[in-house]
Amino acid sequence: MKTHRHQWPTWPRFTPRTEERLLAALRSGRWTVSGAYTGERSFEESFARDFAAYLGAAHAVPTCNGSAALTIALEALDVGPGDEVLVPGLTWVACASSALRVGATPVLVDVEPDTLCLSVAAAEAALTPRTKAVMAVHLYGSAVDLDALGALARRHGLALLEDCSHVHGAVWGGRRLGTFGDIAAFSLQQTKLLTCGEGGVAVTSDPRIHSRLYRKRVDGRRHRAGAPPGELELEELPGVQGYNYCMSEFNAAVALDGLGRLDEENALRRASMRRLEELLGGVEGVFPLARPAALTAEAAYQFCVRLRPEVFGHGAKHKVAALLTQQLGAYVEPADSALNRNDLYQPLSSGWVRAGERRARELDPARFELPVAEAAGENAVVLPHWMFLAPPERMDLVAAALETARNRLAVA
Ligand SMILES: *Cc1c(COP(=O)(O)O)cnc(C)c1O
Repeated sequence: MKTHRHQWPTWPRFTPRTEERLLAALRSGRWTVSGAYTGERSFEESFARDFAAYLGAAHAVPTCNGSAALTIALEALDVGPGDEVLVPGLTWVACASSALRVGATPVLVDVEPDTLCLSVAAAEAALTPRTKAVMAVHLYGSAVDLDALGALARRHGLALLEDCSHVHGAVWGGRRLGTFGDIAAFSLQQTKLLTCGEGGVAVTSDPRIHSRLYRKRVDGRRHRAGAPPGELELEELPGVQGYNYCMSEFNAAVALDGLGRLDEENALRRASMRRLEELLGGVEGVFPLARPAALTAEAAYQFCVRLRPEVFGHGAKHKVAALLTQQLGAYVEPADSALNRNDLYQPLSSGWVRAGERRARELDPARFELPVAEAAGENAVVLPHWMFLAPPERMDLVAAALETARNRLAVA
């Protein structure tokens, strides 16, 4: 079997400048935002400022991971016990588990067949008097219909929380994704388009929400301007229940460095992804996600290749992913299963069900019917974004590997 093991770019990336910044954080004597002020701006604050400016938002609050960003976002929007949060049925488990963590009820909503993002019609049908917030997850580089969802949220007084963990830098109608919601959460975990190993960011342009986000991830403390070197830049005061969800200075130094390369890397990936989209037109039985017209510069964390069950048989994702991995010498993953059939979403094993039978019924993922998400989750594979840092010509290999997989697995 011919493989192409050494032909793909690797991820994560760093340069000598990343090393310099990391060493500067190490030598600064301040390793976290809750360490003493050195007289120089922290990497954490520099990253927060640069990331907000990059997006065109007023504020960004770094966190230890994307799940923490989602959690403080829900709390800052006052979502808690008794509230329902609309969560797309096809996404990473953290979207539902963060709602669970704040004591709310995740209500799983089906997705659009072409984009695999939250269906606004299904969201509307799932509304109850207890619905408090809706999570707009821009999946695999596609995007939720923000115009329709924004209108729905305004009509019903819902908080809109974007999850941009798959789309760092993407542009919708001239504005970056992450500036449409009351808050947007980003993950900076190792596999994401912008990464520091583990990290997250919560973004908002509302000063009151910013203050809550800031304090929630640093045990309720507030930023103190004008602290003398040697003292904390944080002050204690009552009013906000927080937790320690801070991003360390090392992570912030690496994230800050990666931000400088994001647009350039996204442009490379975009060119190769578009080439692969063209090529997929010639491979029977597979097709990419639809790209909404308003998405003028997309950025995709993974490239989702959908498999037609009539051609491959139902549930072929594991077999196809294994074949592609073997042929391409790059790890191709089966898509995540819908959250009502997902081994990682097990709310009935959580302490919240101790509240009684009614609570257990509310939290049971099996109560949701998500035909589109269920089918899509079993009939798709995802290619990692770093493959697309290779030149567009290289996409011929991917199309050829898909063709081979189709020939091997095609049902008669
Ligand atoms: C990665 C991811 C998260 C969670 O982020 P972590 O940094 O792993 O906690 C949340 N939502 C989506 C859509 C993700 O892809």
